[in-house]
Amino acid sequence: MDFRLSPEQEQLRDTARRFAKSELPELARKMEETNEPLPREMVKRYARLGFLGINLPADYGGHDAGHLEAVLVLEELAKVSPAVAFPMFESCFGPILAIAHFAPEELRRRLIPAVCAGEKIVAVSMSEPGAGSALTDLTTRATIKADGVHLMGQKRWCSGAGHADGYLVYCRMSDDSGAKGIGAVYVEKGTPGLSFGKREQLMGFRGIPGADMFFDDVRVSKENVVVAANGFRQLMEAFDLERCGNATMCLALAQGALDFVLDYVQQRRQFGKPIVDFQAVQIKLAEMAMKVEAARLLIYQAVCNAAAGLPSIRESAIAKCFANEIAREVTYRKGSDS
Ligand SMILES: Cc1cc2nc3c(=O)[nH]c(=O)nc-3n(C[C@H](O)[C@H](O)[C@H](O)COP(=O)(O)OP(=O)(O)OC[C@H]3O[C@@H](n4cnc5c(N)ncnc54)[C@H](O)[C@@H]3O)c2cc1C
Repeated sequence: MDFRLSPEQEQLRDTARRFAKSELPELARKMEETNEPLPREMVKRYARLGFLGINLPADYGGHDAGHLEAVLVLEELAKVSPAVAFPMFESCFGPILAIAHFAPEELRRRLIPAVCAGEKIVAVSMSEPGAGSALTDLTTRATIKADGVHLMGQKRWCSGAGHADGYLVYCRMSDDSGAKGIGAVYVEKGTPGLSFGKREQLMGFRGIPGADMFFDDVRVSKENVVVAANGFRQLMEAFDLERCGNATMCLALAQGALDFVLDYVQQRRQFGKPIVDFQAVQIKLAEMAMKVEAARLLIYQAVCNAAAGLPSIRESAIAKCFANEIAREVTYRKGSDS
């Protein structure tokens, strides 16, 4: 087992790091202030730099690299802010991965190249007012009729709602209850009958619009069915990769905070010396570094073991849970706590 990155992986990470440090901080500050999403021009720039669809097949406009390469780039962008990284996250870890793995060929050809070129953003719409943790209670209904698939229902918490160009909508596609009846359909923004609620006001997560979505007899082509009824297991497999992307953004928040504080403690002087010289400060830095490194290793384990497939539920869930917790712990460390 070799835990070192290859020279090519280091080069990719360093390129992303240089770009992120020089081009993104000012933009991130502006997005935090205005709460507006990343400008489309920058999404296209990511595409030109090869940051979108890193782990998607080259046949469809992707870069045929591994999930680890996508993790390396995502960490660098998200260290600046999750908001600037979000379209990259969507293109390498979002619902487009479910489309790449499970959708009919025509839909793959239609969507994946556009996502990799930065021309389309696809978001995931699973949660509902009555179905959060209990996702298998979802009630949005998709009925297959002669003229297409008709959707009725309401979604909640969709990150990108109203801003993304298309949505992978989890819905009930048969009369079976629970997981059995669940499948997913791709719906374009602008389809008659689809509307969006008021934008959510969140404490964090600025620059990533979220809102309810309403489906009032929205009709799409039968070719837009990504996963038919009884496909919940497949959807969750793709979601395991999304978990790794979420974990990487949390890792990035923690690493970004550690980088910042490492610089600060060397600049800041008290009692006649830089505060980094005090052992109590060094102990806190060591604790932060330990947590960050452990989260990184759990994420690497999940994505490397997945190879070109999708990660295991166990490894991705452990990585996600740990990275989420340490993001809070590391950024919350302060001089007076234990
Ligand atoms: C910032 C943000 C972005 C999101 N983006 C998206 C998105 O893009 N697309 C999408 O579809 N959804 C999205 N979600 C929704 C997210 O998936 C749900 O918030 C999540 O599934 C939890 O559902 P809930 O908020 O309804 O909480 P609930 O399910 O109501 O849970 C409330 C509390 O009860 C606890 N709880 C629930 N069940 C149990 C149990 N069995 N045992 C013990 N404790 C339990 C939970 O841990 C939690 O603390 C987003 C949410 C947030 C906050």
